[in-house]
Amino acid sequence: MKSNNYCFLFIILIFALSCSEKKQAAVKEKQATTVLVQPFKDLNSESLNFVTSEIKKIYPNVKVLEAIDFPENAYYEERNRYRADSVIKFLNKETKERFVTIGLTSKDISVTKGKIKDFGVMGLGYRPGKACIASKFRLNKKNADEQFFKIAIHELGHTQGLKHCPEKTCFMRDAEGKNHTDEETDFCKKCKTFLINKNWKFKSI
Ligand SMILES: [Zn+2]
Ligand SMILES: [Zn+2]
Repeated sequence: MKSNNYCFLFIILIFALSCSEKKQAAVKEKQATTVLVQPFKDLNSESLNFVTSEIKKIYPNVKVLEAIDFPENAYYEERNRYRADSVIKFLNKETKERFVTIGLTSKDISVTKGKIKDFGVMGLGYRPGKACIASKFRLNKKNADEQFFKIAIHELGHTQGLKHCPEKTCFMRDAEGKNHTDEETDFCKKCKTFLINKNWKFKSI
């Protein structure tokens, strides 16, 4: 064979490789998880829009669903709260593969924590899993929506498999029954690297 033929074959090979790469990228894109924002009917549209647009800055593949009522079995009448564990169980059942649902509410939510039967929380999520919830109820009035976003992104982090993080400024910091969200500024490098592998986008790490 003449060297020209080798060159020709080489070009075909490169072309075939680049096609399969493109195909793989398309498949990956198709398989990428979609975050479904599920507001409950109590939530105002301002909070919903703010949290959604902040999530989109780091995870663009987001869809907002129509607002719904809480599942009846989640209501805890004694304290006028909704059981976060029941709610995420419900959301998880409604969520198909390659989707993750985050419930957003301004109502108080709670879970059983050790010996405390009904402990009020700001959020709860499976780690890893397809569902989580964030509540605005326990947040400071003056910058509630900003804090609300931080709770939401923390719970979404759990659904991706992230554990609590020792970094004080990281969104994955353990609340330990308090609200430290004003000290949190971003995901730390380690948590970002973990999320980048799950298709999350960050301007810097
Ligand atoms: Zn957590
Ligand atoms: Zn971290």
